[in-house]
Amino acid sequence: MGLLIDKEQCTMCEACLSSCPFGSLEVRDEAIYATESCTLCGACIDACPMDAISIEGGREVEEDSFADYKGILIFGEQRQGKVASVVYELLGEGRKLADQLGEELSVVLLGAGLEEEAKKLIHGSADKVYLYDDTNLEKFHDDVFTEVIANLVHEVKPSIMLCGATAIGRSFFPILAGKLKTGLTADCTELAIDKKEGYILQTRPAFGGNIMATIICPYTRPQMATIRAKVFKPAPLDIHHKGEVITKSFDSTKIKSRYVIQQVVETVEETANIADADIIVSGGRGVGGPEGFKLIEELALAIGGAVGASRAAVDAGWIKYPHQVGQTGKTVCPKLYIACGISGAIQHLAGMQSADVIVAINKDKDAPIFDVATYGIVGEVDEIIPLLIKKLKKG
Ligand SMILES: Cc1cc2nc3c(=O)[nH]c(=O)nc-3n(C[C@H](O)[C@H](O)[C@H](O)COP(=O)(O)OP(=O)(O)OC[C@H]3O[C@@H](n4cnc5c(N)ncnc54)[C@H](O)[C@@H]3O)c2cc1C
Repeated sequence: MGLLIDKEQCTMCEACLSSCPFGSLEVRDEAIYATESCTLCGACIDACPMDAISIEGGREVEEDSFADYKGILIFGEQRQGKVASVVYELLGEGRKLADQLGEELSVVLLGAGLEEEAKKLIHGSADKVYLYDDTNLEKFHDDVFTEVIANLVHEVKPSIMLCGATAIGRSFFPILAGKLKTGLTADCTELAIDKKEGYILQTRPAFGGNIMATIICPYTRPQMATIRAKVFKPAPLDIHHKGEVITKSFDSTKIKSRYVIQQVVETVEETANIADADIIVSGGRGVGGPEGFKLIEELALAIGGAVGASRAAVDAGWIKYPHQVGQTGKTVCPKLYIACGISGAIQHLAGMQSADVIVAINKDKDAPIFDVATYGIVGEVDEIIPLLIKKLKKG
């Protein structure tokens, strides 16, 4: 794929030059060329008044043929025979989007011995589960998974495909998008449907996290996105939900991996149990120093929660990185999140705003954290937290 500039059509008006957000177009020998930094974002295509620019191999699908593409297909990531929790989060959000579109919600599940897991996905609100139950698929091989799912996509033509932004999703979804010659928005934190056009609106942090960009995929199908874990609520299980498990097969003599997995080594790193905690007490710059975190730990202990932190506190060395909540830390979805001395920067909110109940303690009544808080306490952390601990200890 590359940028094609039709020299016959181009009038050298240079509208494309100023439209390029990456400064990737240059004039050489009285013609315009794309440099290596071009990301094929397409801004110049829209800016060109002469329709002289196109993407080689892109925008091939005529919009009329999109009528064949319907429904949402979720990649059912599993490890050791157990479907990952992010799949249920995608089902929860996918159900809402599919209902808005009036289309089906499906899951593609690859692995061995997964019949019960497939039924559970139906209870998690899937209308269909395409099940490839084969010992050759027991271990994840990105080349085999790509090939098998690409064939399914050609057959069932989903309009939207979703996958968790996990190590597995991040490794093979871009390859799949390349194979299908379509776009992919990685690491989304929000999804919605454009009511007029029916596109999926894929929102993710961009430009170093300084803005939230909403991305659409108007020219190719399927529209593909990976989504961070814990940003959506998991679909509740309903044993009465009706759906169909469709058994699929593939020719393992034709679709073979180019590599052999010798060993799976689990890395040992310092961990903090915040990702799955029901209660998190988090401290920010407002706790004042490492000693402030002693108070946070005491409150966490009294309430039976884990300790989280803002990046400012981590950067200051008051607490270790595994505790960081936010865009470049962990995304959490506890029942209760207590933010102490945290301002509520967008990058912090990206990691915790789906918590069921948010309590904010901050001395500044105008701090943005109060915009997302269920309950707000305006005051000094070193006055409020000891009062809370005392109350909790009294029972
Ligand atoms: C690309 C990028 C990625 C980022 N990723 C993350 C991320 O993953 N997680 C993250 O948290 N941030 C992240 N940030 C940083 C983010 O923008 C903020 O700088 C950071 O969240 C601020 O941390 P804070 O709220 O602890 O500090 P501040 O913004 O300094 O806020 C401190 C707050 O404490 C209050 N306060 C001060 N003293 C007291 C007191 N005694 N009692 C009560 N309240 C008090 C103040 O009123 C203030 O609201 C990222 C930034 C960028 C650019």
